[in-house]
Amino acid sequence: MDEKLDFAPCGYLSLDDHGTILEINGTLLDLLDYHRQEIQGQHINLILTLASQSFYQLYFFPMIRIQGKVEAMYISLETKAGQEIPILLNASRNERDGVVFNDCICFPMKERYEYEQVLLAAKKETDDRNRMKKKQIAELDMLRQELESKQKELLDLNEKLQKLAETDGLTGLWNRRSLQEKLTSSIAAYSGELQSLSLLLIDIDFFKSINDNYGHMVGDKVLQQMGRLLEEECRKEDIAARYGGEEFALILPDTDQADALKIAEKIRVRVEGANWGVPSMTVSIGAATFLPGDTERSLQSNADYALYASKDAGRNLVTHASELVQV
Ligand code: GH3
Ligand code: MG
Ligand code: MG
Repeated sequence: MDEKLDFAPCGYLSLDDHGTILEINGTLLDLLDYHRQEIQGQHINLILTLASQSFYQLYFFPMIRIQGKVEAMYISLETKAGQEIPILLNASRNERDGVVFNDCICFPMKERYEYEQVLLAAKKETDDRNRMKKKQIAELDMLRQELESKQKELLDLNEKLQKLAETDGLTGLWNRRSLQEKLTSSIAAYSGELQSLSLLLIDIDFFKSINDNYGHMVGDKVLQQMGRLLEEECRKEDIAARYGGEEFALILPDTDQADALKIAEKIRVRVEGANWGVPSMTVSIGAATFLPGDTERSLQSNADYALYASKDAGRNLVTHASELVQV
């Protein structure tokens, strides 16, 4: 063999059409750790890995016969010690002195192969991490949604509890404690500006006899209907509350004595004329309007005195506290 080819910086071998190695250069022999006499005349399978043997048979030979060449084929050789060496192979089919030679040159691709393996491993790790990250993000998202719905449940529950604490269970009106708070804040807001503020106390007349004659359930229905009637009479800034058993209160902001009396009278007339399912349902009403020097307590007791005055005067009446002072 030509010396230049024998020590060329690439592997060279020549095969006949049966796959017999006709020639092999020193570079490839060194790479595979064989002596020339161990290889020359042997079948190519001797230096191919098992996978490459099939590939060679199924791809290389048909290809080189049909096309006369094979380019950039990526296969693996096997050293004498059984070590796999990936190579890149180019081959061409040539005729010399009437004999066919399938001339092959090859370059070891070990580093590239390892580099590719590292790249593949890194890609797999990145893919795995991305998958994991997506999974974790989805889990976090689910937890966040769960937390949000729990928070909402808690807020709803708090709202319900708050409502329970502030309202009267039978009528749905504000309870006495809320009324007291709202009266305090109404007075704080209005007294400084000397605006008018009135309070009505409304007590059902002879309610005990409704219970006694028709039963407690009918009594409850009357109380509920009274609650609805008062709500209907309220403007949005007014506050209607159940003050006690059959006693109700209305805080009327921006309402002077004359208007308070008009509203009270309207309620009294409506109650008197409504259908309650019981004969003769009436209310007595006491009204008081906030004056300079008044307090929450004085406003309430003035309304209370006025209510008693309505009762004393025969019931189904409206009395304003200012009328009492003159008496
Ligand atoms: P007056 O005209 O003097 O106000 O007489 P009255 O019968 O309305 O007043 P009294 O204070 O003697 O009776 C009030 C009754 O209201 C007694 C009580 O059993 C009843 N009552 C209080 N709370 C409720 C309730 O939630 N449901 C029912 N059905 N009755 C109640
Ligand atoms: Mg009563
Ligand atoms: Mg009463």
